[in-house]
Formats: sequence, C-alpha cells, structure tokens
Amino acid sequence: MRILVISDIHANLTAFEAVLKDAQGEWDYVWCLGDVVGYGPDPNECVDLLCTLPHLCLAGNHDWAALGRLDIRTFNNDARKAVTWTAETLRPDNIEYLAALPTTFVLGPYTLAHGSPREPVWEYILDPLIAALNFPHFETPYCLVGHTHTPVIFEMVNEQGDTESFPPVYRQSRQLNGHRQIINPGSVGQPRDSNPDAAYALLNVEQNTWEHRRVPYDIAEVQERMRRVDMPERLILRLEHGW
Ligand code: ZN
Repeated sequence: MRILVISDIHANLTAFEAVLKDAQGEWDYVWCLGDVVGYGPDPNECVDLLCTLPHLCLAGNHDWAALGRLDIRTFNNDARKAVTWTAETLRPDNIEYLAALPTTFVLGPYTLAHGSPREPVWEYILDPLIAALNFPHFETPYCLVGHTHTPVIFEMVNEQGDTESFPPVYRQSRQLNGHRQIINPGSVGQPRDSNPDAAYALLNVEQNTWEHRRVPYDIAEVQERMRRVDMPERLILRLEHGW
C-alpha cells in the first residue's frame, strides 16, 4: 500500500490540487493529518475534494475551531477572523464531516496525530526535546504528525532516548530503519519553513520508505480569492513567503 501523507491543507484548494497532480498514480490511499480548513478561501471545496479520495482524516485545532469546539480567544486576531469566516462559510454536511473526525489513529507500525501523540490536537513538536518527551506516549515505532507546517524527521538515536532532527531531503526515498521516529510531512496549504511550495510525503507501507516532496502552485490565484472574501492581509501575504 502506497500512502499519500498530507496535512494542514488549510482550505487552500489550489495547493491541494497541485499536490494531487504531482503525486498522480503514485499512491493508493490518503492519510490526512488534520486542519483541512482554516486560513484559506476554499473550506468546502477542500473537504469536498478530500471526500472524493479513498482516505482517512484526523481532526486538527482549526477544524475544531471552525466547529466552535475551541475557545478562539487563544487565537490571534487574524486567525480568529479566518475562523469566524470559515465557520459561517462551511456547509452543514461538511461541518458534520469535520465533527466526526477522530484525534488519533494507529495503523500497523504507524501512530497518527495532528499535533503530537501526547496532546493530539494542540501540542507543537518543534524541536528534538519536545519530540523526545513524546516518544513514551505512543507504542508503535513511528508517529506521523502535522500542525507545525514544517517537514522534518525526529529520530531517537539510542536507548537513552537521545533524539535528533533530520531536515527533509526532497524526492529521495528514505528507508525507515526501525529506530523510533516522529515524522512531519509539512503543510499543503500554508508552509511555514520559508519555502512557499506545497509540502507532502509518500509512504510505502510494504517497503517502509518515506519520501518528502514539495511542489509549486499558483499562490497569486489563492491570494486573489482570499482578498475577495476580505481575509486579513497578513494571512494573504504569508503564503508567498512561506511563514
Ligand atoms: Zn495547521
């Protein structure tokens, strides 16, 4: 089974379509690690497109925010404005879809969570120390997470639990070696690693290999749609800078 691993689409249909086109014919099933909506101009279109694919999907914090499940006073002004617009724009059937999403999945040797195995919806695994603290919170060799919008592999390198981070090497298949790892494919719709290209990954379950990828998409087209619905300018500009 070949898995297309995506996360943090954030209602960016153009980026989502670019990923599907780039990976066409190379996967059998989609694992989506949450935040399908929030920030971008196409929440219904992204849920609709995801639902046409054979897939599983986790709940992210922005999905929950759009459902009114979170106190959005913890979000900054711009994010709050986007959440409110998203909540008002989502169709009832798509709200129902998002409301039914689970927060974790365990599939063979892989545990899936949006943020972290310890705090699936909330925690950001930003560095090796936070990764090390999360290894006791899942039982499989590997955990796949999103949420930080930064592609990376954290690997436990010895029995003492020392953990190192490895930056992505794009379009090169990496053999997962049995060492415990927490792996992030990056964000489809709002990358934050100073690279504006959409990020995703391919996982081959039989061969236990992982491949990070990036693909450019028409950012101006998305920004234009965001301006039309009066999204905050900061959210519009960040797409072209990748932060
Ligand atoms: Zn996100």
